[in-house]
Amino acid sequence: MRSPSSTPTGLTIDWSRCDGHGLCAALLPDAISLDDWGYPVIDERRLTEQSGGDVRRAVSVCPALALRLSVEG
Ligand code: SF4
Repeated sequence: MRSPSSTPTGLTIDWSRCDGHGLCAALLPDAISLDDWGYPVIDERRLTEQSGGDVRRAVSVCPALALRLSVEG
């Protein structure tokens, strides 16, 4: 079982849910940019440089529950 303090290693987006409002990019501007239509583009390399707390916060506030966290225990 993975612990809550595990290190985030990636984010996935459920495109059937994402509404492209860009809140995730506002919270993680160094790791997530928006494409021409306002949908998020994740830079996985830069994502690993973000604090785990900030990444988890972005997941928790996604209004569409479209962001999923990948972690390694
Ligand atoms: S916060 Fe959630 S719904 Fe909004 S752009 Fe990011 S992934 Fe999509």
